[in-house]
Amino acid sequence: MHWSNAEVVLTFGVMSTPDHRISTTERQMSTTVLVVGTGGSGLRAAIELAEAGIDVLALGKRPKMDTHTSLAAGGINAALATMDPDDSWQQHAADTLQESYLLANPRTVEIVTSGAARGIEDLERYGMPFAREADGRISLRFFGAHTYRRTAFAGDYTGLEIQRTLINRAAQLQIPILDSVYVTRILVNDDGAVFGAYGFDIENGTRYLIHADAVILAAGGHNRIWRRTSSRRDENTGDSFRLAVDAGGRLRDPELVQFHPSGILEPENAAGSLVSEAARGEGGILRNGLGERFMGNYDPQRLELSTRDRVALACYTEIKQGRGTPNGGVWLDVSHLPRQTIMTRLPRVYQTMLELQMLDITKDPIEIAPTAHYSMGGVWVRPEDHSTDVPGLYAIGEASSGLHGANRLGGNSLIELLVFGRIVGQAAAAYSAGLSAQKRSSDAVARARAEIADLLSTDGPENVRALQRDIRNTMTEHAGVVRDEAGLRTGLAELDAIEARMADIGVHPDIAGYQDLAHAFDLKSAALAARATLLAALERRETRGCHNRSDYPDLDPALQVNLVWSPSTGVVREPIPEIPAAIATLMRDDISVAGKLVE
Ligand SMILES: Cc1cc2nc3c(=O)[nH]c(=O)nc-3n(C[C@H](O)[C@H](O)[C@H](O)COP(=O)(O)OP(=O)(O)OC[C@H]3O[C@@H](n4cnc5c(N)ncnc54)[C@H](O)[C@@H]3O)c2cc1C
Repeated sequence: MHWSNAEVVLTFGVMSTPDHRISTTERQMSTTVLVVGTGGSGLRAAIELAEAGIDVLALGKRPKMDTHTSLAAGGINAALATMDPDDSWQQHAADTLQESYLLANPRTVEIVTSGAARGIEDLERYGMPFAREADGRISLRFFGAHTYRRTAFAGDYTGLEIQRTLINRAAQLQIPILDSVYVTRILVNDDGAVFGAYGFDIENGTRYLIHADAVILAAGGHNRIWRRTSSRRDENTGDSFRLAVDAGGRLRDPELVQFHPSGILEPENAAGSLVSEAARGEGGILRNGLGERFMGNYDPQRLELSTRDRVALACYTEIKQGRGTPNGGVWLDVSHLPRQTIMTRLPRVYQTMLELQMLDITKDPIEIAPTAHYSMGGVWVRPEDHSTDVPGLYAIGEASSGLHGANRLGGNSLIELLVFGRIVGQAAAAYSAGLSAQKRSSDAVARARAEIADLLSTDGPENVRALQRDIRNTMTEHAGVVRDEAGLRTGLAELDAIEARMADIGVHPDIAGYQDLAHAFDLKSAALAARATLLAALERRETRGCHNRSDYPDLDPALQVNLVWSPSTGVVREPIPEIPAAIATLMRDDISVAGKLVE
């Protein structure tokens, strides 16, 4: 079905509260495909649709130029073989599967790695300024645990340049983008199929009822439910998880969260912000508080270029065992590198450290500690087209699951956005074309309206931000880099108590906008994401990749499965298809050694 971006504005009567600050306006719009999220994955999908002449509307809860994608620094992977001619997409697939600790879906991995060169070509076609060698070849750098150099980049502003490039292309195609609309519900009819989404404008409270044939969920992950995180404030609060689950979807591997080794410690309001892996890629050295270079004790071959999970665990162990810095970190030192290398290859790290700490990294080391960074699990999707359990609902990017398993290779996330953005755009278009009619549900719309009205009428003593902080504390104490049964159970008990207090919140929009309402929904999402994470982490009674269980320090071959969660089924084991022989032969190590917890 093809709608044109029809729009109706109406005021739907006086709400239950007499508060004059509360907007009663509702905007009604129709489109063929609605994209929730304007990061790299959402924009790439929207571009695919617009290039095919399909009506599309994209929206985000924060400005499009300031999404998580624009923070990505180090690079984007494709086996272009411009530097190392022996590289191939099959080797890229083998490295990805190897480093996923056999939890990635081989089909998803094949689709991304074989489609990666096309993803880079698309970006070039849109005008992306990749770094190049003197003869014009795209430069590729080493990222941890890759067999060859295959990470393309633009200084250490790769994500920012990708985001700019996609926004420019979206503007050329005149794709309508709304920058401050918070989606609170995916609308589902009585047959369980999608027919749109409901939300509100964070700035003025205007409600949005958007009818669509299909909805693409590109709303990021859940790593902001930990205290120290590389996420921006108010992003990655688990919205994709809640929106998908409330619509009838499931989550896969929510417990698999990548802790990046290098989050800064100060200032407090920027704690957890990332020092790009490029700093280690370019030759940065890690030292503990005693001045010892310690990676040799954890991965003697690869040292600082080991995988993120091992470097993060090594840093955690040094700190936990009393060899940390006075502030509870370790040192990351690039000061031995030529100044020119730092200024051309790490300009963002240089600038950021000057701005945040007045620290000159050409002279002094950076104090860092592990920080929650990336959701490797996410909404359950089919590998081929990222459709979910809910007809008409798709998930992509960090919101989705299947590519990374228990450890994401640096640079693989950005390429996933490009590859699956294209595929999912096409899949959503085909789904829409196959609809002869669409059922809607006035009850579903009424429930979405009532959910907002109910929150706006609350005036309880519990503070939404304080409850969010409590969830972050719980997750940090009980579901951080190293976990155990007792801690996870305590975490669940604390979460029960927090959820009980959530019944007494007060939501107060003010003259500055509806941020308080947005925080209330963020809180709901964070609580759901935290529960799913704790339950799956309990069930994964082993140590594998990012998931370290001090009470189960070995890898358990029986747990070479994905863990799928929904409120009605609880945690269920899902088998993973076999790795094709041609790729398996390219894999290096014995995975059972890699799974061992070093503490
Ligand atoms: C500091 C940093 C450095 C990184 N470096 C790299 C790197 O070098 N290479 C690499 O491959 N990966 C890197 N990553 C990871 C990568 O950047 C992200 O995984 C990726 O950009 C996520 O893109 P996305 O499109 O899935 O979501 P995002 O870019 O996070 O966008 C999410 C969108 O959803 C919107 N949204 C969320 N909730 C709602 C809601 N309820 N209603 C409406 N809109 C909503 C947001 O406003 C936003 O528009 C890095 C990440 C960080 C934080």
